[in-house]
Amino acid sequence: MTQHADLLLAAFAHFFPGAKTLGSYIDGELVEGQGEPVQLYDAATGLASLTYRDAGAALVDHAASSARRAQREWWALTHMARGRVMNDVARAIRAQVEPMARLESLGSGKPIRDCRGEVAKVSEMFEYYAGWTDKFYGSVIPVPTSHLNYTRREPAGVVLQITPWNAPVFTCGWQVAPAVAMGNGVLLKPSELTPFTSLALARIAEQAGLPRGLVNVLAGFGHTVGQAAIAHRTVSKVVFVGSPATGARIAEAAARRVVPCVLELGGKSANIVFADADLKRAALTAQAAIFAGAGQSCVAGSRLLVQRAVYDEFVAMVASGAKQIRVGAPLDDATEVGPINNRKQYDHVMSMIARGVADGATLAAGSAERGDGGYFVAPTVLAGVTNDMDVARTEIFGPVVAAIPFDTEEEAVAIANDTDFGLAGAAWTTDVARAHRVAAQVNAGTFWVNGYKTINVASPFGGYGLSGYGRSSGVEALYEYTQTKSVWVETAEAPPTAFGYL
Ligand code: NAD
Repeated sequence: MTQHADLLLAAFAHFFPGAKTLGSYIDGELVEGQGEPVQLYDAATGLASLTYRDAGAALVDHAASSARRAQREWWALTHMARGRVMNDVARAIRAQVEPMARLESLGSGKPIRDCRGEVAKVSEMFEYYAGWTDKFYGSVIPVPTSHLNYTRREPAGVVLQITPWNAPVFTCGWQVAPAVAMGNGVLLKPSELTPFTSLALARIAEQAGLPRGLVNVLAGFGHTVGQAAIAHRTVSKVVFVGSPATGARIAEAAARRVVPCVLELGGKSANIVFADADLKRAALTAQAAIFAGAGQSCVAGSRLLVQRAVYDEFVAMVASGAKQIRVGAPLDDATEVGPINNRKQYDHVMSMIARGVADGATLAAGSAERGDGGYFVAPTVLAGVTNDMDVARTEIFGPVVAAIPFDTEEEAVAIANDTDFGLAGAAWTTDVARAHRVAAQVNAGTFWVNGYKTINVASPFGGYGLSGYGRSSGVEALYEYTQTKSVWVETAEAPPTAFGYL
């Protein structure tokens, strides 16, 4: 085995002592897959790392029956008891931030400091939803008959969650916490490239008190395990986080079984800088908005719209900052931007940079040259971009920002909305009325004023248009993970009947 494979396996064995390879986590056990081998690579070197076997369709059935059984057990507890367990899970995750962050960093290529923050956020998600377990309930409806009519909030049942490689542990906690808070069982299908921390999280949660088999992790490919899970009759809801093309395939497969979906998809978000803004703060934040996570973030501020009067000055500030960002090895504490997660994505990012240059954009920072070894991409600023260029329309999902000039507020809004996506956006201005006007007019599920990328489990999150539908986080996620039952109880002593014979 390569050195990376050794390190990865050792980090994994912290959670699964004695593990010799990866598998799926089903009914409290790490089970070896039965499908095709999955080859993993070290993003920092491009060299082959571990291999493991795809779960295969047979394990889906095992996972589904485990989730169904455990879900009944879990739902039979009191709401408050579920909340207590979730708080225990939150504490258990907090106690494992360092080993979990190391596993995430080795398994995904993300900088270790980002991983620490994301694991801590997962703990917060369990804590937040622990508080909701006994506070999300039905109501009594004043119907115009002699009935007592009330609603019950019941779990969706066994939910399938399919997550991407860019924020593995974060997206896992993000969806698992509200699902189990509302009494559901879970089948989680993480990206075949990054299943490590989802497996570890399921294990920690179970050790902290979730019933055995409530959260099952199926490691493997989407077209095999993912599709088999969508088709499984036990699955009653699908929550997908990933690209629009895959989202459409998933929604299609779910529709065949009349199973509802939540789709959290990609973005091409506009970060709009007006000339009256605090340019220094805006330039610092514009860098974090696109370069954090090497741009592999759904909400990345990938279109930087700058008012023409300050365009050259502002783009020069962002480009100068981009050149100073510390790009390096994932496990190095000083690293601010790590490699791209995988080869296919690296090739896509590099080809988009070349496309931008071919279409007439200029490289204010970064390079169209490929490095040797590892999937590193220098923070890249493309200047002189117009919104009809490919680099302004396609999700690059890398550390590449397209800087587009505009003249008026109206034009800025028009450019921001001239996209199929609608995930996020931002406006930088000191004019408070303009800030609210623009926030109201940009078609996006999240909008920031004089800031970027703040998200919190308490606040709803989701897309408009090609960025998806349904909402995650906050109270809105609880509607997604429950269904409403209306109960009618006759209270009249001698109620009339329409007809009937004895
Ligand atoms: P992807 O769509 O390629 O894969 C996502 C998941 O879907 C993986 O688990 C994959 O195995 C699975 N999958 C692939 N094909 C499938 C199929 N035919 N049936 C069932 N499952 C299948 O996405 P990715 O490349 O892993 O992630 C990047 C994308 O995710 C970007 O578009 C990014 O914007 C998006 N994303 C969105 C959010 C959000 O909240 N809106 C968050 C993170 C990432």
